[in-house]
Amino acid sequence: MIRYLTELSLEHFTEAARNIPYQQIHSDLFPGLNVWIRRDDLIDPLISGNKAYKLIYNLLEARKQGKDTIVTCGGAWSNHIHATAAAGQRFGFKTIGIIRGERPPKLSAMLQDAERFGMVLRFISRKEYRNRHQAEFLEPIGFDPDSSWFVPEGGANSEGGRGVQLLGRIITETAPVIFDECWLPCGTGLTAGALASVLPQTTSVTGVAVVRDEPGIRLEIKKWADQVEDQSKVDLILGGHHGGYGRVSESLRQTMTESERKEKLALDHVYGAKLMSALTHCAAEPFNEENKRQKNILILHTGGVQGKRGLTNN
Ligand SMILES: *Cc1c(COP(=O)(O)O)cnc(C)c1O
Repeated sequence: MIRYLTELSLEHFTEAARNIPYQQIHSDLFPGLNVWIRRDDLIDPLISGNKAYKLIYNLLEARKQGKDTIVTCGGAWSNHIHATAAAGQRFGFKTIGIIRGERPPKLSAMLQDAERFGMVLRFISRKEYRNRHQAEFLEPIGFDPDSSWFVPEGGANSEGGRGVQLLGRIITETAPVIFDECWLPCGTGLTAGALASVLPQTTSVTGVAVVRDEPGIRLEIKKWADQVEDQSKVDLILGGHHGGYGRVSESLRQTMTESERKEKLALDHVYGAKLMSALTHCAAEPFNEENKRQKNILILHTGGVQGKRGLTNN
């Protein structure tokens, strides 16, 4: 059954998050592991995955401060832009998306959605976009701090981290078994770091980097998980990006096809499939088998299925 977030309140959101199912995966791909997947892609068909968690406190704060506009930024296939545009339409905010690069003759399917949801798109050059972390970045669009709330790229601010920590607490509360490891894809690393900061000490976090930016990810994880006593609690897998952000290899395509066919699980090529592929490789390493026997592994489905439309056949 498809469920929607229908109301902007912490109670409603928390209730929806508590009802997210954990699905056990019985697959010969993971010998010796008990693998479960938490389906946060199902929290809402449009405001999906970890982006929903990163948005919730941003939206609540904007509402509390009486701001009627959410301004954010991203690329042509950003799941965060998609979720923000949908959330704006759902909960009655105007939205402005600052998009990296020139406006193309034909918008990506994601940007078409965003416009349909009412987001105003402002295209800026890649050079200007590089200043996205500077205060001047918002000047050219005439950002008005009295009426507008800015959410940085990917939802990576302290409100975003708080939302992910809420997810971590809900996992702790609702987990069907005690998980030894929690696996998820890493873009900025915020989700991995914020989760590690609240998950119980018994659950380590393994992030699969989907970009080449190892120092950036480590820094972001550290920002959130610095208080974690045992720093070995967060593990980063670096070789699983299949060539870089958004890049696709033949083996990645196979992972996507197989998970769809065998597990009825739709994965996108940017995040989900890279995660699944890395876990498959790890499970297949014979020297690790002894260590991993009987381990309970939690995979987070962080959403992003809309981005699959960007997968071309060349
Ligand atoms: C944005 C995104 C991520 C990455 O989250 P970070 O907190 O930036 O590491 C992972 N999975 C999906 C589907 C995403 O959209």
